[in-house]
Amino acid sequence: MSDVTEQQTGETRGKAMSNCPFCDSPPDIVQMPFDGWVVSCGYDRCDVQPSTNGYHDRNDAIAAWNRRAPAPGEVAEIAERAEFERAWQSYCEANPRETGERHLARAMFDAGSAAAAGEKGEGR
Ligand SMILES: [Zn+2]
Repeated sequence: MSDVTEQQTGETRGKAMSNCPFCDSPPDIVQMPFDGWVVSCGYDRCDVQPSTNGYHDRNDAIAAWNRRAPAPGEVAEIAERAEFERAWQSYCEANPRETGERHLARAMFDAGSAAAAGEKGEGR
């Protein structure tokens, strides 16, 4: 019977894993007998010892481990985008049109959004 656990660090196989956000150590990925794939900090003296939930799919566990909170500047951008999408949804509901017209309207809407972002002088 083969061992179900697999321990390896960082980029040894498949997708690269980010280091621990608390101690910057490479993570370990382990397949637990019943809980699936778990990625956790590989440094046994890490103060926080973060780990993911168990995932059936190895890549899902890695994706969960690699997910980080957005930087403060990105938060505003994401909120703005969400607001824009809500506005677009209500626009679509208020203006049911055929697909071609909707594509054109969307392009104009996106252009307006890009122009609004540029006006703030936050070009990057
Ligand atoms: Zn750590």
